[in-house]
Amino acid sequence: MPAGRIYLDHNATAPLAQGVREAVCAALELQGNPSSIHKEGRAARAMVETARQQVAALAGVPASRIVFTSGATEAAAVALTPEISARGAKQFDRLLIAGGEHPCVREGHRFAAENVAQLPLTPDGTLDLSALASALDAAGERRAVLALQAANNETGVIQPVRQAADMVHGRGGIVVCDAVQALHRVDENAISLGADILFFSAHKMGGPKGVGALALANPALEIDAPLLRGGGQERGLRGGTENLAGIAGFGAAAACALENREFEAKRQAALRDAFEAGLRQRFPEVTIFGASAPRLPNTSAFAIHGLTAETLLIGLDLDGLALSSGSACSSGKVKPSHVLESMAVPPDLARCALRVSLGVGTAKHDIENALEIIGCVADRIAARRMKPAA
Ligand code: PLP
Repeated sequence: MPAGRIYLDHNATAPLAQGVREAVCAALELQGNPSSIHKEGRAARAMVETARQQVAALAGVPASRIVFTSGATEAAAVALTPEISARGAKQFDRLLIAGGEHPCVREGHRFAAENVAQLPLTPDGTLDLSALASALDAAGERRAVLALQAANNETGVIQPVRQAADMVHGRGGIVVCDAVQALHRVDENAISLGADILFFSAHKMGGPKGVGALALANPALEIDAPLLRGGGQERGLRGGTENLAGIAGFGAAAACALENREFEAKRQAALRDAFEAGLRQRFPEVTIFGASAPRLPNTSAFAIHGLTAETLLIGLDLDGLALSSGSACSSGKVKPSHVLESMAVPPDLARCALRVSLGVGTAKHDIENALEIIGCVADRIAARRMKPAA
């Protein structure tokens, strides 16, 4: 990161975690193919299997149930298919998508449009469980797959996955959980969440970009329609020679996250709270989205009334502060957030929404400086507006 810059956009991507660079470099030095049976191949295989164990420990599943992919987007596409069978019987033909899901779920699933229903969020940003109950009733005999994040990338709101899973399981359905923003930050896993399939992305926890994983928590399920068959790698669910460097880096990042999670959760929550207190003091009219719901310790989504995100972001960036508005995956363009829309946030207010997301490297002085920069940029914009046109 250039000197003097403050990076508060860890939900978009996180800097490399401790041990990741070394793991990646060690993998690059290995010449074997993990599928070869000679010594070189076995060394590469051992590296993949170590990483599998490290990711499995974070996910809370046996290592044999982790499938490496090119990222969360690919993992979502593999998991969200009607071609899943449970104990030999094909049975999932309805997809229910919670209102805050990432585009990789909203756009990336493989169900026919007429079999998909969207579920709204409540104004606090959590899934509307009464809407889920109605959707399960409406599905009737058809068994549903619910796509529900563990935590939202824009607001940080933690979703009621366990409650939703109990409801869905009671009707013979399953839950696919996007755990991309959550399990390296909060003390949850496949067992506590009760989800059937989870998926992850390495770069959100300080691993390399372009690698992720599925955790097939429910052993009764078989995904019958892989995206890439090829040489049958990864239990036949992801053909192609493994991305050894990416996978090794992912493993190191997962291990690091698990080790530091409790400490970092407390530390970052205190910094996030200090940030929000400072924001409220400087802008008493600020809205903090999802503030009444359980949230990730590192995320704050807020709107300063009358200051659009687009105007603010450019000024903040020029002054050395990297934040984001809405989801960074669609960034470059600032467009209205479907998450805030699903929470029934008025469009005028949604246009002012910014997201601060902290990480392992964030220090108290970063928060103080960020508040200072936000104040200065807001003052500059206000002064420009006051200036009579020439
Ligand atoms: N899910 C969530 C919640 C995300 O924040 C992201 C990335 O922004 C993704 C999925 C997609 O992850 P990947 O970049 O690995 O495809």
